[in-house]
Amino acid sequence: MKYYSTNKASGLVDFKEATIKGQAIDKGLFFPEKIPHIEKDLIDNIEKISNEEIALRVIRPYVGNTIAEDKLYEIVCETVNFQIPLKRVNEEISSLELYHGPTLAFKDVGARFMSRCLGHFVQDDTRKVTVLVATSGDTGGAVANGFYEVEGIEVIILYPSGKVSPVQEKQLTTLGKNIKALEVNGTFDDCQQMVKQAFADADINNKLFLTSANSINVARWLPQQFYYFFAYKQWHDKNNPPVISVPSGNFGNICAGILAMQSGLPVKHFIAACNANDVITKYLVSEKYLPQKSVATLSNAMDVGNPSNFVRILEIFHHQFPELKKKLSSFSFTDEETIKAIKEVYKKENYLLDPHGAVGYLALKEYQSQNNNCNGIFLETAHPVKFPEAVETAIENKIKIPDELKSLMYRNKQSILLDNNYQQFKEFLLK
Ligand SMILES: *Cc1c(COP(=O)(O)O)cnc(C)c1O
Repeated sequence: MKYYSTNKASGLVDFKEATIKGQAIDKGLFFPEKIPHIEKDLIDNIEKISNEEIALRVIRPYVGNTIAEDKLYEIVCETVNFQIPLKRVNEEISSLELYHGPTLAFKDVGARFMSRCLGHFVQDDTRKVTVLVATSGDTGGAVANGFYEVEGIEVIILYPSGKVSPVQEKQLTTLGKNIKALEVNGTFDDCQQMVKQAFADADINNKLFLTSANSINVARWLPQQFYYFFAYKQWHDKNNPPVISVPSGNFGNICAGILAMQSGLPVKHFIAACNANDVITKYLVSEKYLPQKSVATLSNAMDVGNPSNFVRILEIFHHQFPELKKKLSSFSFTDEETIKAIKEVYKKENYLLDPHGAVGYLALKEYQSQNNNCNGIFLETAHPVKFPEAVETAIENKIKIPDELKSLMYRNKQSILLDNNYQQFKEFLLK
């Protein structure tokens, strides 16, 4: 399998090179030259196949011969070694709980897969690799955890000061060792902008061997397809495939789902569930893509004003708007509606949503109110305890903090303060 750049101004690369580079030199995103077809047997017999084997068979064609079969199997086993249950909320709606990994966020899957691939690729390299990553909350923790103590790799995480939840902040600032957290006086978009600028900066690239761990990296993006196969494996009505609603920010997760569908996974329709950051919701109405400044919401991991993976979605549909519209809808919701949904679902269904999952739930309900016969799944992307304020306001009750989190909250934050100033960031990297 080869990958081309979505800007089409640089050459083809294999999975190894795409993983090490992160982004193409022409600043495009890497995209697989051909979308592979999933073997029919995998779909027909999915209930009998282990998650590890499903993952291996899904990712194998994308990795090609850059990782030997037994090593790849080892990597996927470490990637999917926690539960991903599909829970029935009511007759029409199920929740795919992606938050049972080590940092209680779905990004654990991508971060674990990528860290192990990258560690494998650089093991004979004498250069030290620096992973640069901007986070709106969950990426940082998942990447920090995934890369912690991986030999030969240093991780630098930029996060917007005061705009991540207390648990998220602890997860990304308390590990130390090869993980450094930069606390930026700005928004997530500012952090992402600085990271992008660093990748394009010749002075920095002459001195450091940089790569990214954002969902633009194929090794983080592609394994997210696994969730959709695991969802289908547990889906009760195989004759009537699910509509799937995905709480979306940078659109990496939903784009992986759409890729899985294009390669043969039965899915009826995708819904991009958004908060007030509604660039794509608007695009699907007007066909005009107008990036905005991100606004802060309760579902902060989705506060993205210019989603980087959107270009990959266009690529999947060959930039054909009518085709895209047939398969993808989008709705956006306010914080008020989000809180109301958490409250109602807790009361009526005895199911506790986090603010991201609540947006996913609302979008699925909205689609179902406009279309017949479309039972579906929303992805529950974070554990409710990661957002105690919003959730406790909604349910007017305390939520129980798991023991792992309690000890985390006692650990010392180690962060380096930084202004929203590229020069200052550059000096930090070069010193
Ligand atoms: C990152 C994240 C999202 C958004 O995922 P994208 O792939 O960026 O669209 C949604 N929910 C949670 C909890 C997240 O951490």
